[in-house]
Amino acid sequence: MGLEHTSVTVEPGAEANESISAVPMPAHLDPWERRLLADPDLLADLAFAMGGPFHVMYPPRVGHNIRAFHAAFTQAGVHGTVYYGKKANKAGCVARACAENGAGVDVASVGELTAALAQGVRGAELMVTGPVKADELLWLAARHGALIAVDDLGELDRLAALATVSEPARVLIRVLPTASASRFGMTPGEIDDALAIASGHDSIRLEGFSFHLSGYDAVARAELAGELIAHCLHARALGHPATTVSIGGGFGVDYVAADAALEFTARVGRQWFHSGKSFDSYYPYHFPVPGAAMLAQILEHEDLAGRLRDNAVRLAIEPGRALLAHAGCTVFRVQGSKTRHAHGRPYRLLTVDGTSLSLSEQWFDSEYLPDPVLWPERPGAVTPTSVGAATCLDSDMLSWRRVPLPRAAEAGDLLIYPNTAGYQMDSNESAFHELPIPPKVVLHDAPGDRFRWTRDGS
Ligand SMILES: *Cc1c(COP(=O)(O)O)cnc(C)c1O
Repeated sequence: MGLEHTSVTVEPGAEANESISAVPMPAHLDPWERRLLADPDLLADLAFAMGGPFHVMYPPRVGHNIRAFHAAFTQAGVHGTVYYGKKANKAGCVARACAENGAGVDVASVGELTAALAQGVRGAELMVTGPVKADELLWLAARHGALIAVDDLGELDRLAALATVSEPARVLIRVLPTASASRFGMTPGEIDDALAIASGHDSIRLEGFSFHLSGYDAVARAELAGELIAHCLHARALGHPATTVSIGGGFGVDYVAADAALEFTARVGRQWFHSGKSFDSYYPYHFPVPGAAMLAQILEHEDLAGRLRDNAVRLAIEPGRALLAHAGCTVFRVQGSKTRHAHGRPYRLLTVDGTSLSLSEQWFDSEYLPDPVLWPERPGAVTPTSVGAATCLDSDMLSWRRVPLPRAAEAGDLLIYPNTAGYQMDSNESAFHELPIPPKVVLHDAPGDRFRWTRDGS
């Protein structure tokens, strides 16, 4: 399938780091993605039917990811619950996969809450997070029996007034990690005040504590979870049930192999990028212990699993990106192809039919590094290729770096960016330029090793 990129030829006499082409960063591909790429017709038929860029979702892979997290809990002998961090992808088929595979959903708006309910996730399976929530969201969350991570004392007061004694609001207190500059969570003094408010209102049922850390460090999560167990024991002494600790999301995804990521980091420079662009940082696209393996690592650290068991604490996790690992990709059609030169050497500058809003890394002033796959596969020579969007902004580029595509791309070819379901595909999309928002196509396994497809009904 042309997925094994050959290495880039460097002009005789030139230093390796003077190549105008970035090193290859082939993405790990799931079996379903290989089947899709190997199908002689399906991608072209979908591109024809959609008439513009589109996303492809494969929800069985979401089910697989949920089951892997469940297995990590089971192997560690821990009572655990998965809540999908819904902001990572709006597709209805993901919430449906959660309902079908025993996962809850972590929501932060009325829109996310109602979308999850509509896909069959029950109210009691919802976690409601987000900073200082509006009354409407709190009221709906309390009505549906959702677990509400309270971020602020005023919010807790309002919730106490909204909820009823016969159906108390189920509450976690979101904790501000020590020495953190986050705008979310409560300080130790605020936590004491929150415990007092909860003690004073029978309409509040304090079920535990939560945090969400940025970054991807397993040890930091394990250690903070240990502190939250202590918070639970203290709250129990005050008469609260306090049975749940939520450690939020931030489980990594492994997009590319270690050697490719290392070589990229060691050699990256402006000479690889269209117009000499440079970026300060990149997402860690190689992640050695991703997803459920990272959960197992957290549970092992200083026997967190044992401490959860001994204290009868349920561990909640809120993975967004990791629940979508290898569950989707994004397809653009090449509209045009120019030849440009850098340092006297030619490269291709493509225009595709969509925008970088469907590949959100620009949000973080960075670039999505897993290489797009050029379809169909045909013989040719490796060609350094940058990818621009169908907009009138010079800066709207999908790939500034010159990706070593296995041949020269031509108008009508498809370019498939792999593993885009987690945050890449729809976080930033808008109808900029009055271009339609790319639809999501859901693939279903059909008899005879075929796919059938539907449009996502989110
Ligand atoms: C964003 C977010 C998540 C999901 O984070 P990922 O990095 O996608 O796993 C979970 N919980 C909270 C509170 C969040 O804000």
